[in-house]
Amino acid sequence: ADVADIPVESDEGTCTVFDVRAVEKHGLDRDLVPDDAYLVNDPDPRAEARPFYLPTALLASGIALVFYFVYLGNRRMKEDAAAIAASRDDLDYQLRHDTLTGLPNRLALAEKGAAGPDGARALVSLDLDGFADLNDSYGHDVGDLAIRQVASRMSERLAVPALASSAPSNGTAASMPFIARSGGDEFALVFGHPLEPGSSELEILRELIGEPIEADGFKLSLTASMGVVNRAPGMTFEEMVQYADLAIADAKAETGRTTAAFFDDDMRRRLEERISITTCLKRAIDHDGFTMVYQPQVETATRRLVGVEALVRLVGGEYGPGQFIPVAESAGLVVEIGRIVTRKVADDLAAWIAAGREPVPVSINFSAAQLKDAGYLDFLSSLLEERGIDSRLIKIEITESLMLENEVAGSVLCDRIHADGMRLALDDFGTGYSSLARMAQLPMDDVKLDKSLTDEFLIEGSEGFVDDITHLVHGLGKTIVVEGVETEDQYRLCLRLGCDEIQGYYFSRPVAPAELAAFAAALAPAGSAPVAEPDPAPDLDPGPVTDVTNDQQTESDQSPYSA
Ligand code: C2E
Ligand code: CA
Ligand code: CA
Repeated sequence: ADVADIPVESDEGTCTVFDVRAVEKHGLDRDLVPDDAYLVNDPDPRAEARPFYLPTALLASGIALVFYFVYLGNRRMKEDAAAIAASRDDLDYQLRHDTLTGLPNRLALAEKGAAGPDGARALVSLDLDGFADLNDSYGHDVGDLAIRQVASRMSERLAVPALASSAPSNGTAASMPFIARSGGDEFALVFGHPLEPGSSELEILRELIGEPIEADGFKLSLTASMGVVNRAPGMTFEEMVQYADLAIADAKAETGRTTAAFFDDDMRRRLEERISITTCLKRAIDHDGFTMVYQPQVETATRRLVGVEALVRLVGGEYGPGQFIPVAESAGLVVEIGRIVTRKVADDLAAWIAAGREPVPVSINFSAAQLKDAGYLDFLSSLLEERGIDSRLIKIEITESLMLENEVAGSVLCDRIHADGMRLALDDFGTGYSSLARMAQLPMDDVKLDKSLTDEFLIEGSEGFVDDITHLVHGLGKTIVVEGVETEDQYRLCLRLGCDEIQGYYFSRPVAPAELAAFAAALAPAGSAPVAEPDPAPDLDPGPVTDVTNDQQTESDQSPYSA
């Protein structure tokens, strides 16, 4: 209502105004509206004028009305409070329950945990396997149906007192589990008693997951991965959740059936190590705690130094790259480390050139997690430009798994590397999901045969496989680099099979830049005649080649160049 239309009463402490539209909207009885109230928006104009007809009566019954209002007000307040409480309960419920299954949700689970670890003696995290695929192939309705079925089976078969009284084998008072849907295809079950492999609860879970889900006339069968944690003294609920997830990862490794993995001491050790490595890496990032070593790549036929691979080390050497690079990748630190490494390589290369040495291409490892670093190649190009380094001196090593993880970003990266005049090497060929067909399609200049293949097939009598791959790689116009060559016999085989280059302890372990100079100086000068026979060892003494790697290495280093 327009404020100007409401009459001003100056001689009375209070007045009430009712909006008739609101009164009608809420279905209130008009008789409940006090007689002295002002009505606004009343379609019946006489009503609006009503208070003006009764001023005297109003004054006379003033005190009685005050009491009446107090009574009315109190009653309404009580009614309102009840209504608010009801809707708050409703809101509470919605906030803490999952709409699809009606189970408690992640928030309720966290609150259950925050209420103290006493009720939580064991936690099972359950994750349906391949659920994204199921959604993709059958649609979200079927996915939802599967989730609902699993949820209701769990509630029916686990949340029953009968089970609880028969469950524990160690005499602890049992309780029904608290079952929550903790994520899209994840459930969490909190038990008041510890579990052990083969506990009836786990068997029931395994069974109910395995029962087919019927949807639109077809049957689906599911499997799940379960991580189980029994609370140890002092363990918080957050830790239990974290450990259960860790155990799930182990259970996931076993595919094709529902598996439960228990969080054990070994997993705890791995977790603690991960945390310790992450701390080390963060310190190293902030305090220049990385250093580079370079492993020579030698042309098989000529024994000339034709390149080096840059490999990062932690100063102090607590952990080797085989340990810390995977942690850096999953902890999101590899982008920063990748840039630190690249800057160090550019610095070392510039120093090498400034010292008047003949530079050889340096290979830099680029891991899949670094794809996130969209500005990496700009960064690298400007580093090279600043230091006057020819981009042809840089080779980037990537793995097939990088291409598998993100094909588009991978192809863009490869194109850009070539456009910038750098070379590309396919690292670790022969591991994981390697495929000859894919290798043939990738725009690589070099293919690096992984050490695992070298170990298995670079043996007299088993060399056919390496021979075939070498032919294939040569047929594609690429170069083959054999990694992990450690012995004279392996070297001779490489020579015979025509493998182009060798990177392995046979020639040298990764060494610091100063030692690399000594190594290069010891090798046959560029352009010298190919060495047909690898033996005897060159009479040039490269000086001691210190072992600066920090991985565990065999002491049987047979490199003719090693001290
Ligand atoms: P990689 O790229 O396959 O590097 C070759 C690894 O094989 C190096 O281990 C090297 O020392 C080792 N190696 C070479 N020849 C032999 C041999 O004859 N025998 C044996 N037993 N080992 C040999 P390293 O330096 O410990 O590096 C391990 C992995 O860490 C590398 O495998 C690479 O994946 C990663 N890495 C190392 N430096 C970097 C880096 O700067 N950036 C990224 N993203 N990853 C790196
Ligand atoms: Ca590599
Ligand atoms: Ca490799």
